[in-house]
Amino acid sequence: MEPIRVIGSELRPSVLVVEDEPSLVESIRFALEIEGFLVLPAATGRAGVELARSASPSLVLLDVMLPESSGLDVCRQIRQGSDVPIVMLTARDSEADKVAGLELGADDYITKPFSMRELVARVRAQIRRSERSGRIEE
Ligand code: CA
Repeated sequence: MEPIRVIGSELRPSVLVVEDEPSLVESIRFALEIEGFLVLPAATGRAGVELARSASPSLVLLDVMLPESSGLDVCRQIRQGSDVPIVMLTARDSEADKVAGLELGADDYITKPFSMRELVARVRAQIRRSERSGRIEE
């Protein structure tokens, strides 16, 4: 896949944000849209799994703490059908969550609270890596 650099078109890389806190979703949306990403929000794990399948995002930002399902379950479900890069968001600085996420196929994690600069940098790094590898196993 060619690296996508076009801003303001349908070819913008898209980031699916699975998070139930509206204020955080808006902060993330603002930070990513300024950088040229298209943001697809999902407030529940179920909506996230469906959008991951139907919208083929460039990357998934996935909160561990969701109202109806654990982000870890959502990660497992997305991985059943997709190699999309997944970055977990966790409020807890919990080694167990991080290890579980990585073992379920997440590519990276960010511990809350995080800066938007860090978030954008990690999103960019993961998308670059997936473009370079063509999602071939490393
Ligand atoms: Ca949450």
